[in-house]
Amino acid sequence: MMLGCDFDFGSVLAEMSSTGVFAVDRRMNVVFWNRFMEVHSKLKTEEVLNQNLFRFFPELKEDWFAKKARSVMVLGNQSYTNWTQRPYLLHFPTSQYSVGEVKHMYQNCSMWPLRDGKGDVQGVCVSIYDVTEMAVAQLLLEEATEQVLLFEDSSNRDAMTGLYNRRYFFEQLNYDIGRCKRYEWPLAHAIVDVDNFKDINDTYGHPAGDELLIGICDRLQSCLRGSDTLCRFGGEEFALILPNLPAEAGFNVLERLRQSIYRAPFIIDGQEISASISMGGVIVDFDLPVKDVLSAADKALYQAKREGRNKVVMATEPALAMAAGA
Ligand code: GH3
Ligand code: MG
Ligand code: MG
Repeated sequence: MMLGCDFDFGSVLAEMSSTGVFAVDRRMNVVFWNRFMEVHSKLKTEEVLNQNLFRFFPELKEDWFAKKARSVMVLGNQSYTNWTQRPYLLHFPTSQYSVGEVKHMYQNCSMWPLRDGKGDVQGVCVSIYDVTEMAVAQLLLEEATEQVLLFEDSSNRDAMTGLYNRRYFFEQLNYDIGRCKRYEWPLAHAIVDVDNFKDINDTYGHPAGDELLIGICDRLQSCLRGSDTLCRFGGEEFALILPNLPAEAGFNVLERLRQSIYRAPFIIDGQEISASISMGGVIVDFDLPVKDVLSAADKALYQAKREGRNKVVMATEPALAMAAGA
């Protein structure tokens, strides 16, 4: 590039305190160090000139920097590093920001070939931009977004079991009904109730009852697919949403869940506690109001209880019709 005047740009760069500019030769010895670099590294130009860069910055990965510099020298191109890829090139402490754990300057860097008067590449020139303010703002925003998502998730969950709660159940059921209708998938719903749980509490104590509920949830959850939803409906009652489950498979899936609880006792505080669950299932009829679908599952559950517990009952067509009040 031809310059249209005879200014001393070297001294302009040398005095610049807003952006860091330094250069190293092929042996990585410093040949240029501007004011910004002096201020932030606390190293005077006389101290670093003709000295190896890595002597002063042990945390700068020598092979990484040398490789990048070599590629810039060979290809003659410019290379750019963003703070999100590498928070900083050179570790400069900062006391400017008291938020969080910000102890260093975040930097964006550019590197380009350093040519002599004949145009031959003799080293690399590096510029350092202090982007701490922007980086801190972005990191704080990300942290706040994460907190909001966490809070939102925790308001959808039951604290004891970690399962989704009743409020979330209705949201998810409406969502799955919409999805299954659109793709013409069947959708199953079931209510699960632990059998004689009052007796279990009376026999082993409430804390053991709590542990048992958590154990039951874990076993149920481990039998389900990622697209299924298990919610704690209240007390020792749970609700299931099973999308894209063929109608004929509904009973078998619930039966497998029932057996997973009954098959082996739970070990709680060194004691074996046997438990069983009863379930009322229904294949959702998209033409019925949601409350009628739920009440059909509920009726099926009560039938399972009446018939001796530890049992799965699927709502039949007449049961659905009854629930709908026909
Ligand atoms: P059924 O087979 O008819 O369902 O009998 P059940 O004893 O399970 O039903 P019932 O509704 O009579 O009793 C439910 C019991 O569940 C009473 C309640 O104290 C207990 N329970 C509800 N929530 C919790 C809980 O979070 N922890 C413990 N330990 N017990 C709970
Ligand atoms: Mg019960
Ligand atoms: Mg109950």
